Amino acid sequence: MNKLDSAIVESSLRDAGYQFADNAKDADVVLINTCSVRDHAEQRVMSHLGNLKHIKESRPDLVVGVIGCMAQRLGSELLKQSAVDIVCGPAQIAEIPRLITEAMQEKKKAVAVTEKIRQISPNAQSLERFETEYSGDDTDIPAQAYVRAMHGCDKFCSYCVVPYVRGPETSRPPEAIIEQTKRLAQNGIKQITLLGQRINAYEYKAGDKTYCLADLLKMISEIDGVEWLKFVTSYPSKKYFKEIMQAMAELPKVCRYLHIPAQSGSDQILKAMNRGYTSAEYLELLYIARQIVPDIAIAGDFIVGFPGETDDDFAQTVKLVKKARHKNSFIFKYSPRPGTIADKRLENNVPQEIKERRNHELLKVQEEISRALAAEFTGQTVKVLVEGPSKKSHQVDNLPQLIGRTAGDWITVFNGPETLAGRFANVKITRTTPLTLFGERV
Ligand code: SAH
Ligand code: SF4
Repeated sequence: MNKLDSAIVESSLRDAGYQFADNAKDADVVLINTCSVRDHAEQRVMSHLGNLKHIKESRPDLVVGVIGCMAQRLGSELLKQSAVDIVCGPAQIAEIPRLITEAMQEKKKAVAVTEKIRQISPNAQSLERFETEYSGDDTDIPAQAYVRAMHGCDKFCSYCVVPYVRGPETSRPPEAIIEQTKRLAQNGIKQITLLGQRINAYEYKAGDKTYCLADLLKMISEIDGVEWLKFVTSYPSKKYFKEIMQAMAELPKVCRYLHIPAQSGSDQILKAMNRGYTSAEYLELLYIARQIVPDIAIAGDFIVGFPGETDDDFAQTVKLVKKARHKNSFIFKYSPRPGTIADKRLENNVPQEIKERRNHELLKVQEEISRALAAEFTGQTVKVLVEGPSKKSHQVDNLPQLIGRTAGDWITVFNGPETLAGRFANVKITRTTPLTLFGERV
């Protein structure tokens, strides 16, 4: 979500005539887009601000802005960090070009955050206009762009800060999403990823018709130029689930990929997390998904060390991971977030070393499953959308090593010309590791 915010802000600043520097030392303005989901991410921002303070000592004109969820969470508190001039929340990003101009010309410190975040933001309309104008001219990964389908979240999982910093759950009108996607496709974007904290809850009422995610997938599938269509993140819930899986089975552009976090396999912990499903219900959804879309690739998220998590609770999670057979899982150690119900009412009582151990153990269990699922690709030819050269590029026949992803989100590494970035390629898989397929271009 904040990668998209960064892209939108970057694109608007380019339109306003700004150029982008390679590092903070050469820049007149530094903006840090922030995440509040875990404390670690916030600590890193604080350490960046410490470095910027040093740069600012020799260049007092440098303008520093903190934008995103941490800006919304901490507001004017952030101005206590001497480096900071601008604080701007996710609902105010349309104001950033103006805030920068004011900071540069008038040497004014400014805070733009939504005071009553759980009410529909008074900036909603200007934000919508700002967002719809985003044309993906210069995306991070060539030919790929995110499109927001939903803002905010109403779910209030007890550990999670998102509802407090991103505000209420609202679905953008389908026309706005379609208009924006058409513009992106005209600019050469081939893969669209629809974003929402609970993307499968997308719902927009217009007259007698209620649009759900399956409708949106159908409508976007009809746009020329869009070749792959993904959506994240799905919330484990029955509503619309079959319709969405049916749309995935029927629409060739919709990638057969589902990211559906489980968080825990213990029903007691799921209850304390306020997730609203049991581990059996979670597994039933995966069963339905695989019935309708047999070759679907499924990814998950887990939190270990939630308050009160016992060895037995953790054993239930291990059991769920073994049954679910995700292609990969993102595993996090519980991080108390100020203001959330879990932080207010529950004691963060799982010691750090136990969190580390459970994290490590769960990763191991997942790794074996991923290894087996990856190995099934050996000998197959997969279609990938090429992202660009890999970081540890090993040349073969003077060709750099490239990274691409399959429709099922498998990272694929092969050698080929750099001009393939942003294009599709077919790769015959020769060897695999738990997270990566290696092969040769055919
Ligand atoms: N809307 C998505 C998740 C967004 S946050 C969903 O409901 O699935 C992304 C992931 O961060 C979550 O799935 C969760 O696994 C993790 N996460 C969120 N809050 C956390 C916290 N306080 N501590 C540790 N991990 C957390
Ligand atoms: Fe956070 Fe739960 Fe909303 Fe996901 S669904 S963003 S975990 S509150």
